[in-house]
Amino acid sequence: MAYKKNEQYDEKVSSDIAGNYKEIIDLLGEDSNREGLLKTPERLAKAMQYLTQGYQMDAAAIINAAKFHEDVSEMIVVKDIEIYSMCEHHMLPFIGKAHVAYIPNGWITGLSKIARVVDVYARRLQVQERLTVQIRDAIKNTLNPLGVAVVIEAKHLCMMMRGVQKQNSVTTTSAFDGEFHKNSTRSEFLKLISASLD
Ligand SMILES: [Zn+2]
Repeated sequence: MAYKKNEQYDEKVSSDIAGNYKEIIDLLGEDSNREGLLKTPERLAKAMQYLTQGYQMDAAAIINAAKFHEDVSEMIVVKDIEIYSMCEHHMLPFIGKAHVAYIPNGWITGLSKIARVVDVYARRLQVQERLTVQIRDAIKNTLNPLGVAVVIEAKHLCMMMRGVQKQNSVTTTSAFDGEFHKNSTRSEFLKLISASLD
């Protein structure tokens, strides 16, 4: 076995979270001692820690570990990065895609690092608006590019399953900096992210 995935959870934190979930399950009118639910608090505790692992991650460290000098001044676009985040108001998921672009100013980073930076901020309790800005600022502050653009499109389970019960509404947020404040640059980016390869 060459590859071994290692997930680590703090035992004390996990058991405290699990204990609280056990109580919540009973408060909801279920029986937490029912066979099917016996291990649910423990699983849920781990799932929630997994879904909020961004708190333990550092976006600047990720980019700085893979920062390369390169004389490229063309727009670099990474589109359709999957987003799995949790709305901080209801702790229900919001799911969608992020499109990120930057125009280097002597420095580039690995393409996968852009996707990891998205995860650093998505794997937390979030609002889509702040998530968009945090991704932009992380790239801006580490690569000092001529411009950065981030667009996120997402569906919010809190809107679909409860409240207004709108199944098909998609929320779009954007954050631009530098060159992307120019109409022509921003239009090029928006054209690239809406184009399909087939
Ligand atoms: Zn919500």
